[in-house]
Amino acid sequence: MAQGRRLCRRCERPLTTCYCELITPQTSSWPLRLVQHAAERAHPRGTARIAQLSLAGLSTHEVADDEPFHPAESDALDWVDAVLIYPTDHPAEQSRDIEELKGRAPRPIVFVDGTWRKSKAIVLGSPLLRSLPRYSFQATSAPRYRVRKAKRPDFYSTLEAIVAVLNTLEETDTYSQLLEVMDAMVESELAFRAAGNQPTPER
Ligand SMILES: [Zn+2]
Repeated sequence: MAQGRRLCRRCERPLTTCYCELITPQTSSWPLRLVQHAAERAHPRGTARIAQLSLAGLSTHEVADDEPFHPAESDALDWVDAVLIYPTDHPAEQSRDIEELKGRAPRPIVFVDGTWRKSKAIVLGSPLLRSLPRYSFQATSAPRYRVRKAKRPDFYSTLEAIVAVLNTLEETDTYSQLLEVMDAMVESELAFRAAGNQPTPER
């Protein structure tokens, strides 16, 4: 196996592009639930991995195609009073601004990690997710993640969504550090390709 292909066990990136030393553990007051499509977990340039390594209090729930998401009964309490971060593209589907929850008692915040199409299928296929109140966020900048094809010009990566929501709810900028890790991952991936390597393959 070529040197460039050996993977770090923690960030699961090729060793030459490992970003683990940049990870700074943080604990958010608001608990996070990540419902992740199985293909996203295997994607070497998925951004959610950075959140998983950085944020205590984030739990991940993996779903496969055609498998409606439902939490295990033993985890039911983890979903009480949860809200879903889900940008709507349909005028009839109202979502509220996450700003409204600022200063309120923390509730579980649910993010769906997948391509635009898969995320939509996950939400539509899950009675629980469909029942949650939907919130959207105002990003302070344009999407900055640029090593995967943008599905839509306004499509933010999962990590960008998590950072924007936590910064808003906790009235801080401290979570922006995670975007610096993402930027470093992007830079190292581009350098990796510039050195003549193929994009990091999916596992
Ligand atoms: Zn690593």
